[in-house]
Order: sequence, then structure tokens, then C-alpha cells
Amino acid sequence: MTAEDNSISNNGRVVALCGGVGGAKLAFGLARILGDRLTVVVNTGDDFEHLGLHVSPDLDTVLYTLSGLANRELGWGRGDESWNFMSVLRDLGAETWFQLGDRDLALHVERTRQLRAGVPLTQIIGAFANSFGIRAEILPMSDDAVRTTVVTPEGALPFQRYFVERRCAPMVRQINFEGAGKAQPTAQVLAALRDPDLQAIILCPSNPFLSIDPILAVPGLRGVLEAARAPVVAVSPIIGGKAVKGPTDKIMAELGVAATNGAIAEHYRGLLAGLVIDATDAAERDTVGGPTHVTKTLMKSDEDREELARETLGFAARLAAMAGPKRMVSS
Ligand code: GDP
Repeated sequence: MTAEDNSISNNGRVVALCGGVGGAKLAFGLARILGDRLTVVVNTGDDFEHLGLHVSPDLDTVLYTLSGLANRELGWGRGDESWNFMSVLRDLGAETWFQLGDRDLALHVERTRQLRAGVPLTQIIGAFANSFGIRAEILPMSDDAVRTTVVTPEGALPFQRYFVERRCAPMVRQINFEGAGKAQPTAQVLAALRDPDLQAIILCPSNPFLSIDPILAVPGLRGVLEAARAPVVAVSPIIGGKAVKGPTDKIMAELGVAATNGAIAEHYRGLLAGLVIDATDAAERDTVGGPTHVTKTLMKSDEDREELARETLGFAARLAAMAGPKRMVSS
């Protein structure tokens, strides 16, 4: 195999679909390799109005991670943060279940101001990314509101109430994406996915149910992915039957799905050309139902992120070079 077979060519572009913490880690690695040849399409189903502000948790995690500003311990927010605003809110007896750092707050205030002035979210995020020195293109999945709600035995909970306030404790019966039916994909997202130089579409190791599904629920996007000539490759968020962080495995159990790599492949059936799984799950390789690349997928350091990005791009390039069907079938 030549070097070209094993990597993305110099003018090749890549689109990554991504949620927050888990997805942003791989997006960071991809951005290190690809720079401005990377487009990251980010879930906005987690967006909500809080204290009169428009908060976009996943977009902001991607902005902070790709700019190197992220708080690596917490996995959300900025590293260089102070908490005066929260402390005064507490004194006032106001709502404090959702943490907003002082520096982070500026982003929400400015985003809200611009949205109220009629500026599309795509344009706002593009300008924020620019000001943070990010070369990759970061796009919200839509400029229209899509709001994830989680149906539990206690009733339907808005996403952040479920995720942050209730710490994912209520059992998940169903997940809805309010407004998805009427949301429009943006011209920028469609252009990125239809770019003739597109060489791979990567589904980051984000929560498939809460982070990737809302993106696929935007009318037209699933079809564009299905029709894409570039291979769609997912990196599994499940290692050893567990999520690295967050409720992915818990939700899978509650929805009656085993927390396996095969179930991740099955979830993305009709879209995937191949799945990347962790070396500890090598034995699952033959249960995935199609091309599987086994490597270390746990990303602790920046080098881990870049290495997994390189492995994933190499796998996608090999799949693109392969003759035959470009989509995995059900196992
Ligand atoms: P959220 O929106 O902040 O919950 O973030 P995502 O949906 O993007 O990411 C959550 C998922 O990332 C979880 O299912 C984790 O298992 C997965 N994840 C986090 N870190 C890693 C990692 O280092 N490797 C892999 N393979 N998955 C990870």
C-alpha cells in the first residue's frame, strides 16, 4: 500500500459530526492534522435558554477544545475560569444548577445579543471560531431550533434538565428532537457534505442517541450522508461494554440495546462504511458486520487524539480505495 492509499490527500477535505466532550477530543486530533480542510458539524439539540441567554453546550465545547481553552478536568467550560457570577447568583437565591463561568458567560451574552439582532448562529460561531484562532470550519447542524427532550417515567424532560440537573438519573424511554421536522440544513453544512474534494465523513465517538441522532434528524442530512461518495466512518464511544464518560451505555440498556460495538454499527446501519473500535474489544471485530479497524481509541493526551485521528483517516482512505459496497450491512 502506498502512502497515498493510507491517508487523506493534500487537498482532500473531511467532515466530522460531533457532540460535546467525546466528539470534540477526536475533532481536536483531526484539526491538528487537517487544519482548514476540516469541517465539524456540531449538535445543537442540547442548546437551551437559561437566565435569558442562549447557551450552546456542544458548540462551545468544540470551540474551547479546538482553541486549547477547554477545561480538561471538567470536560466542559474553560480552563482559565473564575466563578464570581455563579457566587452572586447563589447569594441572590437564583437558579444555580447550570454552571456558567465568568469568561464563558461572555460568549453566551454576545451570542444571545447577535441572535436577537437576527444574525444566524452559523455566522456567529464562525466569527467566534475565528477570534479563537481556530482554522477548522465549525458549523451548527442547523440555524433553526431543534430541542432534544428525554421522555422518562417522570414525563418529558428538556435535555439539560435531564443531563445536568438530574445527572441522567431518570430512565430513558424515548428521545425526541422537537422542531427537527421543520429545521433546515444550512447551505454551509450541505456544501461541506457535497464538496467534490470530500474524502471522509467521520462520526466522532459521541453519544449516538443524544449527540449524533439530532444531527441526522435535520431533514435531508441523513440522505446526503447516505448518498455521499466519501466513506462514512464512525469511531465507537463504547470501550469494554462501557461509555468512557456519560450515559451512553446506561441509555443503551434502558432502550433495550446491548452496549456493544455491534450495536453501535447497527444503530448507524445504512450510513457506515466502517467502524473503529478499541483494541480491548478486538474480539468483537467479527460481530460488527462489516469493515472494522481495531486501534487504541481512548484519548487521554493530545497525542492520543491525533493518533486516533490519523488511524481513522487512514482507515477511511483504505475504504475509499476498496472496490465493492460502500455501506456496512446489518450483522
Ligand atoms: P457530550 O455531548 O458532552 O455528552 O459529548 P459527546 O456525545 O460528544 O461524547 C460522549 C461520548 O464520548 C460517550 O459515549 C463516551 O463514551 C465517549 N468518549 C469520551 N471520551 C472518549 C474517548 O477517549 N474515546 C472514545 N472512544 N470515546 C470517548
